[in-house]
Amino acid sequence: MTAIDYRHAASVPQPSRLARVGLWLRDHRRAIMAMQWAVVLIYAVLLIGPAVLPLPPSGAHIWNNLTLLAQFLFWGVWWPGVLISMLVFGRLWCGIFCPEGALSEFAARHGRGRATPRWIRWRGWPFAAFVMTTVYGQLISVYQYPLPVLVILGGSTAAAIAVGYMYGRNKRVWCRYLCPVNGVFGLLSKLAPVHFGVDQQQWNAPVQRPEAMQPFTCAPLVAVKTMKGASPCHMCGRCAGFRDAVELKSRRPDHEVVHVAGETASHWDSLLIITGLIGVALGAFQWSASPWFVTIKQALAGWLIRHDTIWPLEHSLPWFMLTNYPGRNDVLTLLDATVLLSYIAAATAILSLGVSLPLALAVRLVGRWQWQRFHHLAHGLIPLAAAGVILGLSSMTVTQLRADGFALGWIGTARFWTLAIAVMASSWLLTRILGRYASGLRQVVASGAAILSVTAPLVGWWLLFWHW
Ligand code: SF4
Repeated sequence: MTAIDYRHAASVPQPSRLARVGLWLRDHRRAIMAMQWAVVLIYAVLLIGPAVLPLPPSGAHIWNNLTLLAQFLFWGVWWPGVLISMLVFGRLWCGIFCPEGALSEFAARHGRGRATPRWIRWRGWPFAAFVMTTVYGQLISVYQYPLPVLVILGGSTAAAIAVGYMYGRNKRVWCRYLCPVNGVFGLLSKLAPVHFGVDQQQWNAPVQRPEAMQPFTCAPLVAVKTMKGASPCHMCGRCAGFRDAVELKSRRPDHEVVHVAGETASHWDSLLIITGLIGVALGAFQWSASPWFVTIKQALAGWLIRHDTIWPLEHSLPWFMLTNYPGRNDVLTLLDATVLLSYIAAATAILSLGVSLPLALAVRLVGRWQWQRFHHLAHGLIPLAAAGVILGLSSMTVTQLRADGFALGWIGTARFWTLAIAVMASSWLLTRILGRYASGLRQVVASGAAILSVTAPLVGWWLLFWHW
């Protein structure tokens, strides 16, 4: 596609500096594709390299062992960095850098191009895939060993290529419907201060310049004409300038959550925010540090021994089903797995209730019960949910860096302020959302009730980072 020369388009206002960035993305597809292939290469080295090497010997460090370096980069830099980038740039990562998206789209360019079947378009996938991946990752110790990383991340990439090959010509069917982090990215990007905005009036108006009618392909299948938020958009820039109606713009970070999410929110969003990102994720980050986990396990083991049932304490499963590294003295038995799953399930149930009840009370305080309002209100907790996942992921790296001799005395303060800022942001969003349904004293009282929903997750993080 050739660049549009705006100097000769007298009737079209000059694009802003930000809009020019969007147009740059549209006009430099080759540079972007080169970058995507570079990221694919780095990803492949970090994924496959450690899997074919022996496990790191004792005394190895991140600066002299590829496996430890890859662990540090994946869980300490890559994933927290990608999550933070969603809050700042929207899903720019997906459209410009993601190796899985690039491979899936490449496969779709050369594949069968079949219609997407209904089971793929099921709206529950973002929640189900996130929960399944998180729990499976815990069972096989994905943060500690390279083969589980290969199974989970590599398996996801292989599936992305296969889906791309089968369905949707030049499209990213995988990214749109099945990617395990699609839902999480979609939620976090609602807070981004930039997005591709569509001017409906301009879209419907007669087009003055033929250059503005150049067709484009929206790989993640967004209905660009009616797009209102940043959630589904991969920020690839291919639609920038179309009909002179699409433009990269700045916006208030609370705009989409307060003014757009109310129309689009569904129970799947609430499930992902409350049950997935707050409940399952906190339970998954917490269990290995929890003294309750040990107490319950010992009590159950004693009970089993007294009843002559020893096999759950002795048997494990292959490493791709359950952590099994006898050489490292790291084996999860069937009893361990049962307690682990029960712990995550119990933490999820307690946190989900602890968050949902105050939100439900707030909904009731501003009028009669409406599920749509509850789902809208759940969006107010996105900052806290995001902070939790970022802190949880980086805690693996903190442990790793401490083991390598780095003094991280400031980490407690950094965690405190991250959670404090997230709580303030969530409180602001909850109050603003409730302002759409009530005003005056009703809004104040309902906001107080809604803000109580941050208590349960905060207690969970306090236990993990400061108490245990
Ligand atoms: S709407 Fe589609 S084409 Fe436009 S920037 Fe977003 S992902 Fe790209």
